[in-house]
Amino acid sequence: MRAVVLREFGAASNLRLENMPDPRPGRGEVLIKVHACGVCYHDVINRRGNLPRTHVPAILGHEAAGEIVEVGPDTPGWKVGDRVATLQRLSCGECALCKSGRNSLCKKDNRFFGEEISGGYAEYMTAPVMGLGRVPANLPWPVAATVCCTLGTAVHTLRTRGKIRAGETVLITGASGGVGLAAVQLAKADGARVLAVTSGEAKVQALREAGADEVIVSRGLDFASAAKKLTGGEGVNVAIEIVGSVTFPQTLKAMAPGGRVVVVGNLETGTVDLNPGLVIVKELEIIGAFATTREELDESLRLVAEGKIRPFVSDAVALSEAGKAHFRLENREIAGRVVLLPQEIQ
Ligand SMILES: [Zn+2]
Ligand SMILES: [Zn+2]
Repeated sequence: MRAVVLREFGAASNLRLENMPDPRPGRGEVLIKVHACGVCYHDVINRRGNLPRTHVPAILGHEAAGEIVEVGPDTPGWKVGDRVATLQRLSCGECALCKSGRNSLCKKDNRFFGEEISGGYAEYMTAPVMGLGRVPANLPWPVAATVCCTLGTAVHTLRTRGKIRAGETVLITGASGGVGLAAVQLAKADGARVLAVTSGEAKVQALREAGADEVIVSRGLDFASAAKKLTGGEGVNVAIEIVGSVTFPQTLKAMAPGGRVVVVGNLETGTVDLNPGLVIVKELEIIGAFATTREELDESLRLVAEGKIRPFVSDAVALSEAGKAHFRLENREIAGRVVLLPQEIQ
């Protein structure tokens, strides 16, 4: 098969198309003919060598969708022809965390597609069935591929972790990315007022279309005062922190008393100086959010299939364009998600 292989961590140009042996499904696994695979900022961080569990050579991609073409032993309920999409990571399904619905915290099986196990930047991939969700028949492959890590993450972040309520004001940083545009729409659908923060004028239109009430264009990272002004000096009730270390200090300043900051992204993998006093006197809650459960994926697929949330797949390109797609993502040229089409090689 053809696959985009990363042999050395570093620049986007290190992602190269190669011939690789066809994978075969082992116990509990299926073989998937990959029809689409999303390019996520997580893949950029991975490619740079900032995810310690990845070893090169690696095939990246945790946002794959396709059809099962072979089933391994011990895969009850799954058959050739089934339409599937990957969750970002695996879970055992048996431990106390899994049984309480917190699969994304499972320690017994925490393998991540594109890290410990090969991902979807390839014509074919094997996947443990524990890491798969079912794709409705009417959903196009590029949409199916990206729903989990965009809207699924938004469902996990806003609803499960952020416990967002109608009438609250929500600030979203990195709002023009795949997760951001899904989060803007979901927050609106759930009755919140949305303040979207983005780095460039070019992305304002997409954010307006997604339903953002206010768009704050901030390259200089000074959006707290704008957020304060837009809330009559009060601050926001909830912040969805998608950018992470770079925007975090401003996000903290933008919070209303009693606010919840849900941290779901850290694009530059940096650290932050935190003034505990600010957290104390405002009684802020700082909450982490990671990955998506199968229930959240199913809910996300339903929201898209019913037309309640519009998927923002901005471009779909051939597999050989993976390096170029990374380059565009790093240079903030993409609003929404770009998707690779592994059955179109070049
Ligand atoms: Zn992703
Ligand atoms: Zn578990």
